Amino acid sequence: MMGPSHALSGATVWLAGSWALDQFADYHQSPLALAVGTAVCAGGALFPDLDLSGKVTTNQGGATVARTFGVVSLFFAEVVEKISLGVYYATKLSRDPKRSNGHRTLTHTLPFTVLIGWGTTALCAAYGKWAVIGVLFFTIGLALRGLFDKWAERAGWVIVTLVSLAAAWFTYANLPGGRGYPLIGTALGVGCLVHILGDMITRAGVPILWPIPVKRRMWTMIGLPNKIALRTGSKGETVVLRAVMTVVALLAATGLVARPVLQRFDIEI
Ligand SMILES: [Zn+2]
Repeated sequence: MMGPSHALSGATVWLAGSWALDQFADYHQSPLALAVGTAVCAGGALFPDLDLSGKVTTNQGGATVARTFGVVSLFFAEVVEKISLGVYYATKLSRDPKRSNGHRTLTHTLPFTVLIGWGTTALCAAYGKWAVIGVLFFTIGLALRGLFDKWAERAGWVIVTLVSLAAAWFTYANLPGGRGYPLIGTALGVGCLVHILGDMITRAGVPILWPIPVKRRMWTMIGLPNKIALRTGSKGETVVLRAVMTVVALLAATGLVARPVLQRFDIEI
């Protein structure tokens, strides 16, 4: 799946989930909390592909998402890729094939998703708003790169970085202080999970079972069979899937915004 589809899937899942909680569990969120959760989940849905490094020395290659913050994120992606490859070799069994890069390994596993969600929650609980602003800056940058890919490409990484910084600062200034922010870690973890599921419906698959060994393989790639799997970049992905996700996201957002507006005018629904 391509970057923009991943980002959109994160935003859609967060909005749809929030709508369901709002409707059926009486769990209501402020518009700012909703916007923050949606942006973080969209950014989180790109995070696992930060294992696709380019060549930082020649400033080439890498996933689009690795270019969000210019060579800084390109370098970060290279480090993530090397660590993933290290973990692959440290845990591989006799029937796991040799690899020369770590793409679609560690960052595409369930333990990684949990670690990111829990780690971010712990970070925000320990350092409060200062951790929040860092996480927001990073994830909003990824979300911008994914959701508005054409704009981001034209604008370049300097503008993307500045806009993310401004958005993170605005949120920081308006968030209630003095408490943990479990929402942010949750949104990031959910985003990573949505990314993995998205990759599962494309041909390559992901090592979703890791670290459970199957037939002397630790890194069994699991995805849909080739016949029904979505081809990356095909019309099915870029037109049909994106259109469906956009409609679901807009419906959920409308549903979430409509109730408080109607209530303000004393209209019962
Ligand atoms: Zn991926």
